[in-house]
Parts: sequence; structure tokens; C-alpha cells
Amino acid sequence: MKSWSLKLGRFAGIEVFIHWTFWIIVAWILLMHFQIGHGLEQGIWGVFFVLVLFACVVLHEFGHALTARRFGIATKNITLYPIGGIASLESMPEKPWQELLVALAGPAVNALIAVVLWLYLNATGQIPDLSAMKESNSMLEVPFLWGLYAANVVLAAFNLIPAFPMDGGRALRAILAFSVPRSQATRMAAGVGQFLAIIFVFLGFFYNFWLVFIGLFVYLGAGFEASQEHTQSLLAGLRVKDALIKRFTVLDPDMTLEEAVSSLLDSQDTDFLVSDDDRPVGILSKNDIYRGLSEKGNDAMIAEVMDRDFYVVSAEMTLQDFFGEVLNKGKDVAVVMDDSSLLGLIDRANIEEKLLIREALRRV
Ligand SMILES: [Zn+2]
Repeated sequence: MKSWSLKLGRFAGIEVFIHWTFWIIVAWILLMHFQIGHGLEQGIWGVFFVLVLFACVVLHEFGHALTARRFGIATKNITLYPIGGIASLESMPEKPWQELLVALAGPAVNALIAVVLWLYLNATGQIPDLSAMKESNSMLEVPFLWGLYAANVVLAAFNLIPAFPMDGGRALRAILAFSVPRSQATRMAAGVGQFLAIIFVFLGFFYNFWLVFIGLFVYLGAGFEASQEHTQSLLAGLRVKDALIKRFTVLDPDMTLEEAVSSLLDSQDTDFLVSDDDRPVGILSKNDIYRGLSEKGNDAMIAEVMDRDFYVVSAEMTLQDFFGEVLNKGKDVAVVMDDSSLLGLIDRANIEEKLLIREALRRV
């Protein structure tokens, strides 16, 4: 996904990306202006408005990210999509009041921007006559700052709808989690969200078709959040040693890729430990082998293509931490050691297997 996103920059230590689909919105705004007979200048103003609005969305996401940082939670990046921004927090705050503050910080930023703009518009006598605007019957005639004010009010209100994936859904879950366990709070909040979503879809058919779209979006979001939470609850209490791969093939860094291929074909393994004098020096995955073969050929040495930048984890690490510290950083496998003795490997596939087994046992 990263390669399809444009990096905007790094602010307060957090990288901000723009997803390629974002440009669809920009093109759409331009087309809309041309369609109603506007010239290039008005079209460019329209695009500029959207860009400033998305700057407000970025500030909204920084509201979440910087509040989370106060609770010791880092943010991997912030990515802008046409439907809004997403701040990928490395984990979710455990305590309900922390989650509540992190969730509310985003909409609070938009509310603050709206208040500042309104005070300015009011002080300079620029509050437009709304009834006159209704008669002109075009959203595109709205004065710039007034439009920005209204858009921030909508952003704050929309995000406070108590349904996943909106911030209001997380806030509702946090409030419920004061009195019931988190997994139950998630189910309840997801239920409220899906109920609201059905009402949106229903109302949408009568009033505004956008509500149908929003309703479907909310319905899917609620389901996704519930399943994420389900995974988290399955992971709870499990440690790296519970999904440890004890039987694995060790390769030598001086072997050729041809020899690696024969190990690949001889076993079920998808990742190999590369060890030099009993000391792990790298991990060779199936994909590393394919890439090495196509770039360097059969005779290349394993040392040339293996991943030297691998993680070493302890058998006692919780799987929740393993997700946050290894899998979410783009690595699928790690070496497991205790003190200086090698215990084995752990990878994503094995954890998924372990979770499937756990789930099957729960159903009994
Ligand atoms: Zn938000």
C-alpha cells in the first residue's frame, strides 16, 4: 500500500501519506465545477478548498496521535483517503478513560477550528445570509472561510456518530467499558452502530442518497471492528512459546540458492534460519529465495539475499506484543531465544494456525 501513497512529510515525528485514491476526489471536484459551467479559476479554488479541508483532517488525526502519545502509544503513520484520514496507532489504550480521550481528541480539533473561524467571521461581519444562499441554490457559491467553518462542524458531528469506525463508536465503547468487559463493550457498541447504519440506509432512500452510502460504510466498519476485537481477545493470554516452531531447517550462509531451493521443496517450511557457527545471522524466507533466484540466479549465496535485519524475541513475550512489535512492522517471522540459547522460530502463519485451533476449541 505504501508504494501507492505519496509521502507528504514528517511532522512531530509522524509520517503523513496521501493515498493515490485521494486524487480521485480532486479530479471529481474539478469535473463538477466544469460541469456547471465554471471556469478553471473557480475549479482551482474548489480544489484548494478541498486541500485546506484535508489539512483540517490531518490536524484531526494529529489530535488522536498526540493524545495517544501522552499515554505512551506511538503512531506508525497518518494516511489520507478520500473518505478521511486514518492514524495507525501502534496499539489501543487499555484503560477506558484513555481510549475515550484519544477518540474525542480528533473531533475536538475540528470543533476548535470551527469555533475560531466562527469568532473571526463574526468579528469581521462575514457571516453570510443563509436564506439568500439557499436561493442561489449552489453549494459552490459559499464564501471560502464560511464553507471551511461549516465543513469543520460537519466533520466534528459526523465523527461523533456513535458507530464504528467513527470516533463516536470508540468513545461509546470506552464509556461502556467502564462497566462491562472490553470485548462485551465492543459487541454492544458494534450493535448500536449497525442499528444506526440500518436507520441511515432507510432514511437515505427518502431524504438523501448519501445516507445510504454512509450507512453501508458504518455497517461494514462495525463488523470489522468487532472482528478485530475478536482477534485481540483470542490472542489474550497467549505467549510466543505457545506458537513456537520447534522443528525448523537451519541453512548455512555459504550455501547456494540452489541448495536453499531443495530445502524448500523437501520440507513444509516457508522460512529458514540462517546460522553461522550456531549463531543466527539471518532469516531466509520463501520470497527471499524467489527474489534472489530472479535477480541473482541459482549460484548466488544465501548470505546475499537473506534478511539480516531480523527480530529476536523472548519465548515469554505476549502474542499481543508480538503483533505490535514485529508483525505490524512488516516482518512475518522472528527468531525466538532465551538468554543465549536458540529455541526456534515464530511466524504469522503459525500464529494464525494457533488462533484457528483456539477458536475451534471454544466452539465445543
Ligand atoms: Zn478521528
